[in-house]
Formats: sequence, C-alpha cells, structure tokens
Amino acid sequence: MGVIEDRFERNILTTTVDTVFNWARRSSLWWLQFGLACCAIEMISAAMPRFDMAERFGMLYRASPRQADLMIVAGTVTKKMAPVVRQLYDQMADPKWVISMGSCANVGGPFDTYAVVQGVDQVIPVDVYVPGCPPLPEALYYGVLELQNRVIKYDTIAKKQGVEAAEADRIRAREEAQAALGVRR
Ligand code: SF4
Repeated sequence: MGVIEDRFERNILTTTVDTVFNWARRSSLWWLQFGLACCAIEMISAAMPRFDMAERFGMLYRASPRQADLMIVAGTVTKKMAPVVRQLYDQMADPKWVISMGSCANVGGPFDTYAVVQGVDQVIPVDVYVPGCPPLPEALYYGVLELQNRVIKYDTIAKKQGVEAAEADRIRAREEAQAALGVRR
C-alpha cells in the first residue's frame, strides 16, 4: 500500500459528484442585470475591468430572469417598483439567491417615507446583506464570497436534512442579519 500511495498521492483527487455540482453552482452565479439607484453604479463598477468581479467569480450578468440565479438589489426599492422586483424574482431559475446591496435595499436608507419599502426583505427573501451608502465594490466582493459559502451550505443541508430544513436555516440566518442591522418591524 505504501508503494501505491507514494506513487499516486500527487496525481489522484477523490471527490463526489455532489461536491463537483455544488462547486460549479457556487462558482457560476449568473446575476440579473438591473439596478435601482446610486448603488447600482458601484455594482457596475465592480463588474468593470478594474475590479472584474464577473471574471474572478465566474459570474455573468443576464438580461433575462429566466437565465439568472442571483439577484443583486442595488438601490432604493419604491413601493411602485416592489411588485416588479417580486415578479422578476419569481421568474428566476431555482435555486436562486438574493444579495441586498446598500442601506436603501437593506432598510430603506435615509428614505423613511410613504413611497419607499423599508427593506427589500419585505418583498423577497434575502441571503446576504451588504451594508453601506453606497457600499464599495470591495464590499460587494465580500458579499459574493459570503453568498458562495451559503450556496455550498444550503445544498449540503438540503441534501442531508431536506429542503425545509435548508429554508428554515435560511430564514433563521435572515432574522439574525435583520437583528444585527436593527431592522424595524
Ligand atoms: S444606499 Fe445610498 S448610495 Fe445606495 S441607493 Fe441608497 S442613497 Fe443611493
């Protein structure tokens, strides 16, 4: 055995098909191309050559929700826009993920008014919150890395304990994030 191990240890990689699928899913998040306000400029900047988020993470922005599995909500969500955001989310492929980018999307930002939704998580489930007004491209980077960890974890929990357990874990994590942000209900 010792002879065989010495011979192959640098050449053989063992893994499972599930791990490969999870790795591929995590490493090819395609995000829906839309922005709502000034935060979108930072999101666009993150995708441009200086930061190059798309190339580094295997991400692509798509113009159709049916080809996307990630929604980055970048900007102020007005009550007029909220039904559209929800419809786009419903049209996206499963499993799908949401990053809330910036204070406006997280909690309404400085706009505590009759026209602005006080947090996009009142409309769609959010997986990762990126704080700031606006967050820099580096902050969005960090959010994407956090999301990648969640994608792997979600798949693992869903396979071992069922989709309900994975959803329950996602809701618990969302409530913890809301509590940390001091979201008013
Ligand atoms: S969080 Fe700040 S930068 Fe982002 S959309 Fe709101 S006001 Fe604009």
